[in-house]
Amino acid sequence: MKLYLHTYILWSIGLSLFFTCNSPESSLSYSANILKNKIDSTPAPKPRALIPIGLQKLIVAYPEQHFNASTNALIWPNGDSLVYQDSIKKGEKTFQMLLNQPDLEDQLFMPYPKGVDYPIPSLNNDPGRIRVEDFFLKMYGENKEAVRKNLVEIDFLGSKLLVTQINSIDQKLIQIAKELAKDSALKKYVETVGGTFNWRKIAGTERLSMHSFGMTIDLNVKYSNYWRWAVSDKTEEGKRPIIYKNRIPLKIVQIFEAQGFIWGGKWYHYDTMHFEYRPELLIEL
Ligand SMILES: [Zn+2]
Repeated sequence: MKLYLHTYILWSIGLSLFFTCNSPESSLSYSANILKNKIDSTPAPKPRALIPIGLQKLIVAYPEQHFNASTNALIWPNGDSLVYQDSIKKGEKTFQMLLNQPDLEDQLFMPYPKGVDYPIPSLNNDPGRIRVEDFFLKMYGENKEAVRKNLVEIDFLGSKLLVTQINSIDQKLIQIAKELAKDSALKKYVETVGGTFNWRKIAGTERLSMHSFGMTIDLNVKYSNYWRWAVSDKTEEGKRPIIYKNRIPLKIVQIFEAQGFIWGGKWYHYDTMHFEYRPELLIEL
C-alpha cells in the first residue's frame, strides 16, 4: 500500500509538471492570436506578466507580422530579433539620442493623444517621431528595391499612389479614401496628394523618412504647416519655441486614426500634412 501511494504521488507530480511545461501560459512567447481572440470575442489568454506592455502592443498592433517576444526582445518568425530596452538607463538619453539611437521602448514611451481633443504639443513632445529604423527596415524592406517589391498602385480620390501591401496598408488607404470622399468639404485637402513612397532621408537629418517605406502619405501641401517652415533655427534642439499652426480639419485626422495612422499635427515638431501607419501608438491594452 505504501508503495502504491508513493507511486501515485510521483505520478501526480509528473503529470502536473507535464501540463505546466506544455501550457501556452508557460511559454515566453505571446502571439497575435490575442487580437484574433478579441475579434472573435472568445476569452483572450492573459498577457504574460514578464513581457513588457510595449512589446505586447507591437504584437497585437501588427497581427500580420506574427511577432513573438521574449522578456526583452521582439522576435520575427524567421528568428530575427530587436532588443526592447537597451543598456542606457531611462532618463539618460537626450532628445537627440532618442531620435538617433532609440530602442523599441523609446519608440513607444510618448503617449499619442488619439482623437480630436489633443493638447498643443509641449517642447519636444513628438509621439511617433521616435523610431527604431531597423524595425521598419525589417518589416517593409531593407532597401529601396526591397520596399518597391511590396508596392502597389491605388486610386486615392483621383491620385494614383504607390503604397505598400505589407500590413494591408493598401486596403486601409482605400478605406480611408472612401470615408474622405463622403464629405465634400474635405476634398481640397486630400485631392492633391503631397507624396507617398519616396526613399529618402528626413530633411536636415541622417534618418530615413517614413516615406521610404510606402506606409506614409502627405496630404495637400497647400493647406499644410511644417515646423521647419515656421522657424529660422532649423535644428531639433528646441532652442526657441515653435509656434503651433494647423489648417487640416480634425475629421480627416479621425478617419486616418481609425485605420491605424498617426498624424504629424500632434507633434511639437509638427508636420500637418503627414500621416504614417503606426498602430502600436493607437491601441490600448
Ligand atoms: Zn510626410
